[in-house]
Amino acid sequence: MAGKLIDGKELAKNLRGEIAAGVTDLKAKGGVTPGLAVILVGENPASVSYVTAKEKACAEAGMYSREIRLPATISEQELLDEIAHLNVDPAIHGILVQLPLPKGFDEKKVIDAIAPEKDVDGFTPVNVGKMLIGETCFLPCTPHGIIKLIEFSGMDLRGKHAVVIGRSNIVGKPVAVLLARKETNATVTLCHTGTPDVAAFTRTADVVVVATGRPNTLTGDMLKPGAVVIDVGVNRIPDATKPKGFRLVGDADFASCAAVASAITPVPGGVGPMTITMLLWNTLESARRTVALRRGF
Ligand code: NAP
Repeated sequence: MAGKLIDGKELAKNLRGEIAAGVTDLKAKGGVTPGLAVILVGENPASVSYVTAKEKACAEAGMYSREIRLPATISEQELLDEIAHLNVDPAIHGILVQLPLPKGFDEKKVIDAIAPEKDVDGFTPVNVGKMLIGETCFLPCTPHGIIKLIEFSGMDLRGKHAVVIGRSNIVGKPVAVLLARKETNATVTLCHTGTPDVAAFTRTADVVVVATGRPNTLTGDMLKPGAVVIDVGVNRIPDATKPKGFRLVGDADFASCAAVASAITPVPGGVGPMTITMLLWNTLESARRTVALRRGF
């Protein structure tokens, strides 16, 4: 491997140390423990493990977390009522509804029910709109973590060409917006399935963020030598040699990309650890805002 590894676990550990210190400080000076409520509807195994990881991360940071497990049989109105209670619960500073919801739920309606000031996932229209126009808001966790990873790689994004592959509302589009912000100042190209020749763009890119959910979307021959690669993808490939019967790969072909890139994130251990870290970051920020409001500044 020629390129260096961008170690998401190391960056996440550093940031979680800072967050834990911030929590201790807020408890001592503001008398407030940041609290996160995680709502899980149904028994989706991947969702169960994500929720467990979020609870563990909260505990390690000294935060309060409340897991609300609801059966897939509850009505949408019962779920909306649960969110309404959490919206006014002073012990809760962040509310997260684990997606995807079981069939039959209107995800947009459910997310819209979260009070924007507790929307630590940054998914409500208010926070998305504020991000777009550059106002203070909760940045979506995975895109925010991606920006932190690029900075951690040592790349100064100002004036650089960044190519994002994938235009989902939770990854591709917000990453493109954050990269193009004045303080980041990259020139951004957003590719998708309607882009006839993705490689024509990636070959001129200083940084490529790939978020398609398809293995081997990005290969080494599509890169400019020395580019930085952020691989967001998480794909399960059947593998009988693994205890779980599968292995995880990203959307980039790691071996060929690592041979050409100056730095690349691994899967797992790259973007994944940063997503939960930025969730903790937003929850602490939300709790800080309530203390500041109470004090009238
Ligand atoms: P998504 O909603 O399925 O969106 C995929 C996007 O990629 C779409 O915009 C699609 O284009 C585009 N695309 C698909 N194949 C393409 C190709 N061959 N060339 C160019 N564009 C292509 O996926 P997502 O939610 O953004 O997630 C992407 C990946 O990131 C998944 O593997 C997911 O598991 C992973 N992920 C990881 C984390 C983490 O914390 N590590 C968080 C979120 C997501 P169209 O719009 O034209 O269909």
